[in-house]
Amino acid sequence: MKIIVLIKQVPGTANTRMNPETGVMIRDAGETILNPLDEHAVTEAVMIKKKHPGTEVIALTMGPPSAQKVLREACARGADRGILLSDKAFGGSDTLVTSRVLAAAIRKIGDTNLILAGEKATDGETGQTGPMTAALLDMPVLTFVHRLEVNDMHIIARRMVEDGIEEIKADLPALVTVVKDINNPPLPTIKGYILAKKQKFPVWGPVDLALEDGTMGLKGSPTRVVKIFTPKLSRQTTFYTADTKEQLPGAAEAIIKVLKSRSLTEKGDRYGV
Ligand SMILES: Cc1cc2nc3c(=O)[nH]c(=O)nc-3n(C[C@H](O)[C@H](O)[C@H](O)COP(=O)(O)OP(=O)(O)OC[C@H]3O[C@@H](n4cnc5c(N)ncnc54)[C@H](O)[C@@H]3O)c2cc1C
Repeated sequence: MKIIVLIKQVPGTANTRMNPETGVMIRDAGETILNPLDEHAVTEAVMIKKKHPGTEVIALTMGPPSAQKVLREACARGADRGILLSDKAFGGSDTLVTSRVLAAAIRKIGDTNLILAGEKATDGETGQTGPMTAALLDMPVLTFVHRLEVNDMHIIARRMVEDGIEEIKADLPALVTVVKDINNPPLPTIKGYILAKKQKFPVWGPVDLALEDGTMGLKGSPTRVVKIFTPKLSRQTTFYTADTKEQLPGAAEAIIKVLKSRSLTEKGDRYGV
């Protein structure tokens, strides 16, 4: 079995900064890490490999040359090899183009049974890359997966949905995006780090992927960031006070009126409102 894990290098800080003029994320030389959810995707792939001897796990990332660091980490965590998709022409790609490049690489790798990805990246946070990549490859996609059973021909996945758990069986090849509840990634071992340090990662660009000029980067990206701003969180507090016992019903009535006017009372008068 061949498993590809899509991994992304993300800023190691929660303070993602955006360029207000271009609407593009500012990616300076700050510390970067493996997207935390992708740790779970790599761990899951390695767990499947243990159950299915002969399985190969390949980590795949599109990013700048520095993204080799996350490939190395994936290998330290048990991936067999890694491939970096990197070229100036990829700069400025939106989620569609990112998925286009990833899909082209997956086609080039060939004969893949399962693709694992994180549910979302901590920086862009769209959660679009996994499903878009699957759509471009014309294969089933199962999102928000927290339990995964893999057989030779199909998978059974449990998805966390709004009102419960959904169990789905899908034929392989398929793409699965995972949530953090799927496993507890162990820390990489020293042996893992030593082995990963020796790894060399091939770098594929547009020529290797047969991607035509104009289909990548900003030029190929249909997404236009029209405006970018930090949401202002402000609370406007209104006090309804009752200084005496007699004033209590009046204050309560005023609060109920406000709640009703904002449709904040539950149907069925659960609070006796
Ligand atoms: C107009 C525009 C310009 C942009 N310019 C740039 C730019 O110049 N440089 C840049 O780095 N980003 C750029 N971005 C952001 C870039 O499009 C997204 O970071 C990327 O497409 C992934 O989206 P996301 O972060 O929402 O990931 P999500 O879709 O939330 O990620 C979900 C999962 O998909 C997989 N995944 C996501 N990204 C990758 C990847 N690159 N490689 C492998 N697997 C991945 C991982 O498994 C991840 O857990 C730009 C975005 C826009 C809209």
